[in-house]
Amino acid sequence: CGIVGYVGHRQALGVVVEGLRRMEYRGYDSSGVAVLDGHGHTAVDRKAGRLANLEAELAGAPAESFVGTTGMGHTRWATHGKPTDRNAHPHQDSTGTVSVVHNGIIENFAALRTELEAAGVELTSDTDSESAAHLVAREYRQGPSAGDFPGAVRAVCRRLEGAYTLVFTHSDHAGTIVAARRSTPLVVGVGDGETFVASDVSAFIEHTREAVELGQDQVVVITADGYEVTDFEGVPATTRPFHVDWDL
Ligand code: GLU
Repeated sequence: CGIVGYVGHRQALGVVVEGLRRMEYRGYDSSGVAVLDGHGHTAVDRKAGRLANLEAELAGAPAESFVGTTGMGHTRWATHGKPTDRNAHPHQDSTGTVSVVHNGIIENFAALRTELEAAGVELTSDTDSESAAHLVAREYRQGPSAGDFPGAVRAVCRRLEGAYTLVFTHSDHAGTIVAARRSTPLVVGVGDGETFVASDVSAFIEHTREAVELGQDQVVVITADGYEVTDFEGVPATTRPFHVDWDL
């Protein structure tokens, strides 16, 4: 029930886990993280239960495995599929290239799963969320958005029904995160040489108080240097920047 994404100059893992901890009050049954190494690989770890379970597992991982300055994290409140390790987010496409975290419900997931399965894609979770990773990978490989990561995300968003905050990474695009929202919250945190996306400002308030609230059906592309917001068609959109001047 919480999402955080980070692109910047610091190691992403610590920033992301700390952000998830800040959103624990929202409630969750599982958690997970993804970190891009900048050399074409995305490391993922996800675990049912308390965030402490995930942290314990991460502590046992080889020191080099979660090194990178782009990452995202998720706390899940299961709606489709039991709260198990394999249903925890992030989910990935079959090549482990596109990763996604999702809060909300993708209402037309059954039709999307059927379509993917008919095309020979093997789904590895019971969630409504996993399809989004496979669909973005496919859009990126072929069709009008081939090779265009934000374009592929926008093309998929146009097909999704329901309520969602979605955050995507692509192994070949470390340094970029693409996030979208419909009917669930998404805010951008604008720091000095670092940028955040989150469901809640509490995830990044320790690092920056400059925030931007996304509107309905908008996509944001963040890099360490800033952000760009469009609608699902790719048309630049106006945003609402604000300063967080309250204490949490
Ligand atoms: N519907 C998704 C799932 O069950 C996301 C749930 C959430 O908002 O955490 O995995």
